[in-house]
Amino acid sequence: MPEMCEFCGALYWKNEENSSKKYTKCYLDGKVRLPNLTEAPDLFKELLCSNSQEAKSYRQQIREYNVALAFASMGSQIKALPGTGPYCFHIHGQIYHMVSPLYSNEGNKPGYCQFYIFDSSEASNRRMENNQACLHSVI
Ligand SMILES: [Zn+2]
Repeated sequence: MPEMCEFCGALYWKNEENSSKKYTKCYLDGKVRLPNLTEAPDLFKELLCSNSQEAKSYRQQIREYNVALAFASMGSQIKALPGTGPYCFHIHGQIYHMVSPLYSNEGNKPGYCQFYIFDSSEASNRRMENNQACLHSVI
């Protein structure tokens, strides 16, 4: 049964309490205080909660939408873990972000940050070419 931080409500396992029998990793025993979360913009509430075609597509393809609108891509040496078990993303070494030049050249299709200097409708069309599982109306 998970235990709860009295300060913020974060959930802990019983053995995570410190020597004072308190759960303090979430707020460093009062040294960290975060402001309350602001309410999500209406567009995200709609996409996360409604049953519209756009909302269903967004929830089903959320990683593809995230990639379509990303400014850079991530690079790392990903290690496959032996055996079975829950999905686990294991990285060896360091993570780096690959940011492409501001302008694409003839050999490469534009992507990532390059779309942010395009006209928005042109950028949406180009993003759709790279991410065909996404709906144009959501992009
Ligand atoms: Zn807490």
